Amino acid sequence: MDNMKLADLLFPNITKTPEDWEKIYPERDLPEGAYVTRLGPSPTGFIHLGNLYGAFADERMAHQHDGVFFLRIEDTDDKRYVEGAVETIITALDYFGISFDEGAFIDGDHGAYGPYHQSERGELYQTFAKKMVQNGDAYPCFLTSEELSEIRAKQEEIKANPGIYGKWAVSRELTYEQIEENIKAGKPFVIRLKSRGATDIPASEMKQISIEDGIRGTLTMPENNMDIVILKATGIPTYHFAHVIDDHFMRTTHVVRGEEWLSTLPAHYELFNMLGFKLPVFCHTSHLMKIDETGSKRKLSKRKDPELSLDYYRQDGYFPEAVREYLLTILNSNYEEWRMENPDADYREFDFSESRMSGSGALFDLVKLNDVCKDVLVKIPAEEIYSFLLNWAEKYRPEIHGLLAEDPDYVKKILDLGRSGNKPRKDLVNCTQIFDFIKYFFDEYFEIQDEIPEHVPAEDVKPILEGYLASYDHSDDQSAWFDKIRGLATELGYAAKPKDFKKNLDQYKGHVGDVSTVIRLAVTGRSQSPDVWEIQQILGEERTVERIKKFIGR
Ligand code: GLU
Repeated sequence: MDNMKLADLLFPNITKTPEDWEKIYPERDLPEGAYVTRLGPSPTGFIHLGNLYGAFADERMAHQHDGVFFLRIEDTDDKRYVEGAVETIITALDYFGISFDEGAFIDGDHGAYGPYHQSERGELYQTFAKKMVQNGDAYPCFLTSEELSEIRAKQEEIKANPGIYGKWAVSRELTYEQIEENIKAGKPFVIRLKSRGATDIPASEMKQISIEDGIRGTLTMPENNMDIVILKATGIPTYHFAHVIDDHFMRTTHVVRGEEWLSTLPAHYELFNMLGFKLPVFCHTSHLMKIDETGSKRKLSKRKDPELSLDYYRQDGYFPEAVREYLLTILNSNYEEWRMENPDADYREFDFSESRMSGSGALFDLVKLNDVCKDVLVKIPAEEIYSFLLNWAEKYRPEIHGLLAEDPDYVKKILDLGRSGNKPRKDLVNCTQIFDFIKYFFDEYFEIQDEIPEHVPAEDVKPILEGYLASYDHSDDQSAWFDKIRGLATELGYAAKPKDFKKNLDQYKGHVGDVSTVIRLAVTGRSQSPDVWEIQQILGEERTVERIKKFIGR
């Protein structure tokens, strides 16, 4: 077969040569050892935690090594394309502080290695498919979907590996004349890699290849022998081909991607070698896992776990810096220890390393995330929490936005409650939780949620609150205020200290804590809250007294 002639028959319009493309996309001018990384999401409209996890790794790797981090939109699968998905990806990542040095942006592409949408790089892919045909490394395949199903059924029957290889690769045998005839007849065809891997030997005897993975170390696997599709019938490349061409011509040094690509890595390896391209460092991340309700560890699933979607975190108003902090703890096993030693350092000072990423399933735990949020939020000034909360409410809870905007100082005081001193309260997690936590400060949302404490007989509620009101002086300081509660407790038969009650259970009805819980319940509607004296100072005398009166029906 005259491969040159075949290549011209298949790609009559391709006039550029591989050398032309090498000139269009030259090596990057970067310092020795710089990393170039990329994120390659598909615009399916669903951007998930796995993308963010990979993006943080990419971002740290590039920026810690004087390199470039770019965004490439992998839109070769038109069936899955969702309108507006590119904007969704960019804004979702931006929310979490992921910004790119080059690639696809809201206002279009930026950078010298574009276009950054694979759908616009057709000529490049076709040039290389043509070159592979010229070299005898690729061929047109006319198998119809019915024929492919038949092959698959036969393979199943004789328990052979599925796929097009060896004797199943019937289109390899076509003559130039047959191909020409098929094309003239308008038969659709794909371009397949003509794999050089041996096919008729048992798997155990197949040649092994070794690839150094930045996360997993040396991977040893059988070489590829599948004639995978490189160009679909539409002329659009498959993921495999676009990945090899783009990561070469965008000069990617480190390919961070999910472990689902491990099984086709030998095919990518064969393509890189055939095309004479240098292999990038592959970093195959592991799936994000969770412990489910039944206690077993499983992959986070789009269908079952809303927390897989990045929208979940925006809707609940998670602070991006908190999510980032948590993700860093699962990205690098030594991050937590570093953070303990450097509580106030910028995360960028941490020495991130792909080799310390997990190769065996990274456990994602919402409870742990929420704990990290508490630690992070305690360091964010009330002023900032307030403005974040306000923006969030505007978008996700418009019905409370007005309430929060009305009196900024009031809300800021609430947010700062108990957060000063050397043991600040760590109870703010995300905007949804924050509003729920503070909403009793707003009369519109104030309601009695809890029961009176069990040691307090119903008939004591009134005397406790009447007594409290009678001696209430809004200008009392905290200790004078509490002394009064102690006095009131003693008067009504409650121990002034919990330990006195524990020692002489039959002498008292309960202790001062029970009495103050009744007061707390009347003022906040809850049996647990930050310090009641401080709450009253923020609520003001009038509101405090009014709530207590209302509680006892006055
Ligand atoms: N478009 C691929 C995906 O969304 C990207 C894989 C890669 O990063 O190479 O899974």
